[in-house]
Amino acid sequence: MPALSSEAFVLLRHPLTESSWIVTLFTREEGVVRAVAKGARRTTSPFRGALEPLSRVRVEVVLKEGRELGTLRSAELLEGSLDLHGRWPEAAVLMGMGETLERALPAHAAEEESYRLLGAVLAGLRAGAPPLLAWVYFSAWLLRLHGVFPRPEGCVTCGAQGYPLLLDLGAGEWRCPRCQRQRPAEGRALTGPMASLLEAVFRSPLASLARREFPQEALSALSGMVYWALAAYLGRPLATWPALESLGGAAGP
Ligand SMILES: [Zn+2]
Repeated sequence: MPALSSEAFVLLRHPLTESSWIVTLFTREEGVVRAVAKGARRTTSPFRGALEPLSRVRVEVVLKEGRELGTLRSAELLEGSLDLHGRWPEAAVLMGMGETLERALPAHAAEEESYRLLGAVLAGLRAGAPPLLAWVYFSAWLLRLHGVFPRPEGCVTCGAQGYPLLLDLGAGEWRCPRCQRQRPAEGRALTGPMASLLEAVFRSPLASLARREFPQEALSALSGMVYWALAAYLGRPLATWPALESLGGAAGP
C-alpha cells in the first residue's frame, strides 16, 4: 500500500467513534488529505497531543486507491499550536484559517504557496502581529493565490489610477466606478488608505508589518472587503465568523 510521508498542518478533526478522529491534514507534498486516526482519542494514544488544529506535524498516511479516507500511521509533533489556542483573539484566527483552508483547497493537490502562507501567519502571530492584521493578511493572500483578489493596479478597463476601485469578483479584476457601473457586478469600494494597506500586505512579510502603525479605520474596512470576497469565493459565510467578529473588523456577511 502506498504511504504518504510529509510535513503537514492539522486543519480540523472530527470524532469518528469514541476512540478515533477523522483528521483533515494540509500536507506539503499532496495538499489536503483526510485520514482516520485510530485510537487517537484514547489517553494512551501515540497520536495524543499531536493532532491539535494548526499544529505542524510530520505524518505518514496510508492511502488506498479509490478511497477518500486514508489511515494515519504516525504523527510526530514538530510545532504545537496550544500556545496560540490559549490566547484570544489569536485562537479565532486559527479557527478561521483552519475552516477556510479546509473549504478552499481541493483534495490531493499540493499548494506550496498556501502552505508557506499558513506557516508565515502562524509565525507572525507568535511574533506579536495584531490578530486582525494577521487575518486580513491570510485571507487577502489566499484569495490572491487563487486568482480572485489581485493586486490593485488601477482600472483594468480605462487604466485610471485613482481611487476608489471596485472589485469585479467574478473576473478577479479592479475597475473604477465609471467602468464598473457598465458591468452590473457587485463591488465594494477600495479607498486610497485601504489600497496602501493592501499594497503593504502584498509586499511585506507579516512579521515586519506588525511593527508598523496602520490606520485602524482602513484596516477595519479592508477586513470587511476581504471577508466579503472570501465568503463569496467559498460560496457561503464561514461557520467560524462569530469568533472572527471578536477581531474587531468591519461588518461581515
Ligand atoms: Zn475605468
